[in-house]
Parts: sequence; structure tokens; C-alpha cells
Amino acid sequence: MNMNELKKTDPEVYKAIEEEIRREQDKIVLIASENYASRAVLEAQGSVFTNKYAEGYPDRRYYGGCEYADVVEKLAIERAKELFTGAEHVNVQPHSGTQANMAVYFSVLKPGDRILGMNLSHGGHLSHGAHVNFSGAFYETFSYGVDRETGMIDYDEVRRLAKQYRPKLLLAGASAYSRIIDFKALAAIAREAGAYFLADIAHIAGLVATDNHPSPVAYADFVTSTTHKTLRGPRGGIIICKAEYARMIDKMVFPGIQGGPLVHVIAAKAVAFREALRPEFRRYQLQIIKNAGELADALVRKGFRVISGGTDNHMMLIDLTGMNITGKDAETALDRAGITVNKNAIPYDEKPASVASGIRIGTPIVTSRRMKEPEMVIIADLIDRVLKNKDNSETIKHVRDRVKALCKRFPVYEDIEI
Ligand SMILES: *Cc1c(COP(=O)(O)O)cnc(C)c1O
Repeated sequence: MNMNELKKTDPEVYKAIEEEIRREQDKIVLIASENYASRAVLEAQGSVFTNKYAEGYPDRRYYGGCEYADVVEKLAIERAKELFTGAEHVNVQPHSGTQANMAVYFSVLKPGDRILGMNLSHGGHLSHGAHVNFSGAFYETFSYGVDRETGMIDYDEVRRLAKQYRPKLLLAGASAYSRIIDFKALAAIAREAGAYFLADIAHIAGLVATDNHPSPVAYADFVTSTTHKTLRGPRGGIIICKAEYARMIDKMVFPGIQGGPLVHVIAAKAVAFREALRPEFRRYQLQIIKNAGELADALVRKGFRVISGGTDNHMMLIDLTGMNITGKDAETALDRAGITVNKNAIPYDEKPASVASGIRIGTPIVTSRRMKEPEMVIIADLIDRVLKNKDNSETIKHVRDRVKALCKRFPVYEDIEI
């Protein structure tokens, strides 16, 4: 990346960016919600479109000089429609996944209406009704979880809760759930209960776009997503909806809850969607899943308990109860050894979320670095060593050296698979 000007004018920010580049290069990052966007995405996002106000939508703006902003927004919309087969309408302006959800809620719900979503502590997302989030403050929220034994969504329980509470909106989607979500079944439950159905595919959008996870687009009234997780674009959100809701959603995003769209981010979304339409991206997503499966199997062989016994997607939750280490301490020890994960509550966790009994592990980034199954076996071994010797600084140092060597073999921006 060319940062000559920044280096001269703001050495402090320049240095932080340089160090962040080094961190991303030298550590094995297993954060399930992150990815490394391509150089092309970064270039588009760093472009002069950052200068432009473009309130409104293509061909109907409230500012002059939007002819090129229109070009990139139309490209982003067209490509998103191609990527998500059956999409009748797409809005590419939400600044984030949470704002995409907010636009849907504000479109169809009044304050105090009922929503039913997945429990945060069972893998759901803050914006699905958690009390610390606006969604929990504005609406009366109910939640479904996973079965204690299987670790999987209990669809009969969802149906029972939907019948009992009659929510106006049923939400599907998760931030920490490693199994296929049966969107068709959930859509049927929503229909029976007279609820709108929103599928939030923030985590699995890349898998959905490449037919590596069943798509909710045909069944859901609304589909929301981020663009920066498995989809590997810039940070941001999108909304896909049925044509009948198009006007309502567009009006709610702007002027309802946002001002000017981030045209530079929309340009980068267009670039990411084009990348995602290529056959290589389908292979990349399949490899993410294969890598997660291999990593889960290897950890199970080492004696770790994986929630639900394994994974169908890009991530897994490791249950550390009985391993003599908390999620918080595991996160710290692994990071010292150069492996970045996040602590995560496990279903029915008895510890507070700030400590947690689990860690969440995902493979989008290591797969972007072209690592494959053999490297997953190595990573499982390194994780095992650290977690079973967290206070042994010699082990930590040894692992740190092996992490550095592995990272050197799989450079980030010289060889990223695009
Ligand atoms: C990440 C995530 C979001 C929110 O994304 P932000 O861009 O961080 O607001 C929404 N829903 C789910 C299921 C997520 O995993």
C-alpha cells in the first residue's frame, strides 16, 4: 500500500497502520467474524469517493455531481442481485449489519412489538433483541436457544415459542452457531405464527452466495448481512427484500436512519461482489468449510469438546469447562503465542460473558492466506499446547516461533487468493 503522504504528514497514525499490517501478517487470526479484504477492495475503499455526498438513490439524489456515485451504487446492486439468486431488491447503503437490521425493524415494527430471535448466549447477535442493544430496549423480545445435549437449534421449541408469544417478527441468524440453519423451516414457522421473517446471514453470507449453505432469499421477507465477514468485502451492511417492501426499506435507510451513504464503501462493496462472483471464490468458501471441519476434528482428537460435536460452516465453539482454563484466560494465552481468537459464552454458560467458558474459532482468514487441511492440524496442535501449558513461558515462546514461521509461509497480501 502506498502511504508516502501519510508517512510525512502523520507519523503517529502511519506507525499504527504499519503495526496493524505487521500484526495481521505475523499472527494466526482465527476470529470467525473477520476476514482480510483484497487489495482491490482496500483501494476502492481508500478512493476519492470518500469525498462525495450522495443522499438519495441512483438517478434520484439530493446532491449534484453524483453521476459516478450512481455508477458504483448501480454496479453494487446489480452484482449483489446476481450473487444472491432470487433477490428482488437490494439496498447497499447500510453502514453496518446492525443498521441493516435497524432499518428492517423500523420498517415493520412499532415500539413495544414482539420479536423472537436466537438467544445471545446461545449464539445469537446483540441486535436480535439483547437488552443492552436498542433492539432489546425498543421491543418486547423473546428468544430461542439450542438443545442442551445436541447443541443444535430445536425447531420444535421455536415453533412452540412462536405460537405462544405470537411475535410480529421472527429472526434467524447467529454469530456463534456452527451448524446449517434451516431457513425454510423457520420461514414456515413465521408464516404459521403470522410473523414477518428476517434472515440475518452476516456470518455466512459468503457461504450462502456460493451455495455452500442453503439460501434464505426465496423464503425470507428480508435478508440482512454484513459485507466484511465470510463475504470478504469492506465493513458494511446490505438488505435484500421482496419487491413489495423495496420502497419502505429504501425510505427507512435514507432518510429514516442514515444520512449520506458511504460511497467509497459502496464502491468497495461492488468490487467485493464481483470477486465473489468468480469461480475461485466458490472454491475459497468450500475450503473455509473444509478447514473448519479439519480443525474441529483435530481439536476433538486432542480431547477438546466442540459444541454440537463439529461444524458445517466456517466456525466452531470450543467448550473449555473441565479444561481448567476460562475463555478469557485462553484468549490471553493464545494471543501471547500469536494466535488470535475471542472468548465466547457457550450455551448454558455459568460464567459471565466477560469471562466465558469457551472460545470461538473461525477459518475465513487462514483460508484467505491459502492455508489448507495440513496447516489446520498444525494449528490445532499449537492451540492444544498453549491451552494445556498456559503458564509455561517456554511453551508460549516455542509456539510463537512456530506461528511466525507458518505465517511467513502464507503471506497476506502477496498471495491472497482472489
Ligand atoms: C456481525 C453480525 C451483525 C452486525 O454487524 P455489525 O456490522 O458489527 O453491526 C449482525 N448480525 C449478525 C448475526 C452478526 O454476526
